[in-house]
Amino acid sequence: MGKSFKICLLPGDGIGPEVMAQAVKVLRAVKARYDVTFECGEALIGGAAIDATGTAFPPETLAAARESDAVLLAAVGGPKWETGEPGAPRAEEGLFAIRKELGLYANLRPVHAYAPLVDASPLKPELVRGADVLIVRELTGGLYFGKRDRAYGVPGAGPNGAPGQYAYDTMEYAEYEVERIVRMAFELARGRRSRVHSVDKANALGVSRMWREVARGIAAEYPDVEFRELLVDNAAMQLMLDPHQFDVIVSENTFGDILSDEAAVLSASLGMLASASLGEGTALYEPVHGSAPDIAGRGIANPIAQILSVEMMLRYSCKMQEAADAIAQAVERVLDAGYRTADIADAHTPANKVLGTAAMGDKITEYL
Ligand code: NAD
Repeated sequence: MGKSFKICLLPGDGIGPEVMAQAVKVLRAVKARYDVTFECGEALIGGAAIDATGTAFPPETLAAARESDAVLLAAVGGPKWETGEPGAPRAEEGLFAIRKELGLYANLRPVHAYAPLVDASPLKPELVRGADVLIVRELTGGLYFGKRDRAYGVPGAGPNGAPGQYAYDTMEYAEYEVERIVRMAFELARGRRSRVHSVDKANALGVSRMWREVARGIAAEYPDVEFRELLVDNAAMQLMLDPHQFDVIVSENTFGDILSDEAAVLSASLGMLASASLGEGTALYEPVHGSAPDIAGRGIANPIAQILSVEMMLRYSCKMQEAADAIAQAVERVLDAGYRTADIADAHTPANKVLGTAAMGDKITEYL
């Protein structure tokens, strides 16, 4: 009897439903080839959920997510739900809510430079070729969740001693939060090239000094994994100077946020980048890009990030390494054969190899 997985699909808004349809094609192809069943159910999130229920993250969606083995999300948001009216629900609230409710403390973003696309990166091809970095970002602590306030009319806070505004955010971490994310980075490195860079700002921040101490303790438990420490300012520079030195990078929330967007430059387009958010329970897989309202409904969105999100889901939640590898290889082979969506096509791409969203989904499914 084969494996069976319950998958909660959240297509969301804009290009979300268009790219999700391609991910579903790939799931069907995996089902046909491997001894596995995917029981897929759709639920509402973001703008689509606001329109139907008045809230971006309805309780039914949370229940459906919790009951599933994995959640596959596309993207949320769009101008329709950015009215600026005070108190109006915002589509992105759905994203924060699902991450929080599922306790997703680790965000994994692999950045891979595909050989046929190296010329599409703004960096020199020789620098980008072969780069393969996994950024592991802490997702539920640090500056974005610490104590904060903003006050107005505070004496002396304005220019020339006048009253003015005063605001603060605090970077807070508990030891266990550092331990679990660093440990995850080491475990992941064992399945890759066995090197972890822990990125902090230990020359300036007390939180970072604690981070370093905890990370060193974990590193001692993994003598088979090479451990390096890097200050975040230097890490930002090294990523652009010599990305090949990196395998797994682990960092706290804010630094990880910034470094993962910087690293995205190594891939040719936002449409190529997938991510996984892992925690204690159900994990969430989604492309890095948003709902791209500028191209929604035109059938030209790149579905590869969504399809690579399926790859990550099979790898981490379903433990189907062979099927995950097959998806990654199918994407590589389609690119090698010269097929492109509009965002990754260049002047040398023949017109008959520029595919729309559905045709790219079909092509990858065919190569699987
Ligand atoms: P975006 O990622 O949606 O788009 C940025 C640019 O990249 C656009 O030009 C878009 O056309 C292009 N692009 C994005 N994905 C693409 C794809 N798959 N194929 C081809 N081109 C692609 O970011 P944005 O324009 O800043 O935001 C649009 C909306 O998405 C906003 O409402 C924003 O809040 C939301 N958003 C959602 C998420 C998410 O759901 N995780 C992430 C980022 C932004």
